[in-house]
Amino acid sequence: MSGTEEGVRAGTSTVAPGWVAGEVAALAQSLRAGRLPHALLIHEAVGGAGEWLGIWAAQLVLCQVPGRPPCGTCAGCRRVTALQHPDLTLLRATEDSRQIRIEQVRELTAELALTSHAGGYKVALITPADALNRFAANALLKTLEEPPARTLLILIATQPSRLPPTVLSRCQRLRLRAPTRSESLAWLNAVRGPADWDAALAVLGEAPMVAATLEPKEVAEIGAQARTMLDELVQGSADPVAEAERWARAELPLRLRCFENWLTDQIRARERDGSFLTEVRPGPYLPGGQTFLNIRELFGLVDEVRELRATLDVPLNRGLALEALFRRLAPASAVP
Ligand SMILES: [Zn+2]
Repeated sequence: MSGTEEGVRAGTSTVAPGWVAGEVAALAQSLRAGRLPHALLIHEAVGGAGEWLGIWAAQLVLCQVPGRPPCGTCAGCRRVTALQHPDLTLLRATEDSRQIRIEQVRELTAELALTSHAGGYKVALITPADALNRFAANALLKTLEEPPARTLLILIATQPSRLPPTVLSRCQRLRLRAPTRSESLAWLNAVRGPADWDAALAVLGEAPMVAATLEPKEVAEIGAQARTMLDELVQGSADPVAEAERWARAELPLRLRCFENWLTDQIRARERDGSFLTEVRPGPYLPGGQTFLNIRELFGLVDEVRELRATLDVPLNRGLALEALFRRLAPASAVP
């Protein structure tokens, strides 16, 4: 397994995710009625179908078959799927900065001003759009205000609130709902074939697009190992230093996702039994196990795990960062 969540582009699968059927029908209807907006903001949950819908929308306007586009099979549609259509520009965060920079937006603006190769639309796919830095977002504003004719800008974001209101107000927003478990399973079985996807999703959360890029059996195994280790840390029977080193060596993105889900489960369990009201700090006289982490601390840990996940591409000592988090799980008496 590659360990990278974006290793395979599940977004380009031709099997339509059932939970975006409403948006698909609405966009097709808008095009037929000549009311397709020039800018779409697709607001999705992490691992949702935002990229899939963005690529579908690009095919909608770049398909060469008249009638009921997109056909999915013409040269135009296939080039979009391969992200190699001359009238499609993809804007992604640069690897070093994790941002979309102003120079990239300027290049895009220049590209959109040129005549379309196929004589139709020109499309820009900006993903994740919440990676646009302030300068880049401002530079994009001009194109959003006065787009060249037959331009479609597609912005895909999990946190659109990070974009300036001036940008948001010029896009038609599509808020994608999260899939139900059965919708995720139906799509995964169709795209990747039958497997224990339920076990994989139990580890990953409702993120079928992420699951599709991974091997379900390995995901389930890594998930089970991660949960066992985290439970052992809380009991004081695992070593935070050794475990942090082990996690940092392989499959870290997946393990951090497991960590976040495990924390969320702990929070839910406390909400169920009412123990979120207690603010009792851990002490050596308290029994080990589930009682000593209070809910505020758990929420704090969720934020920090997310932060660590967001900065995975930035070179820093992950072993140390993880060790600090693990130490906070371990009972006070077990930490040297
Ligand atoms: Zn087509």
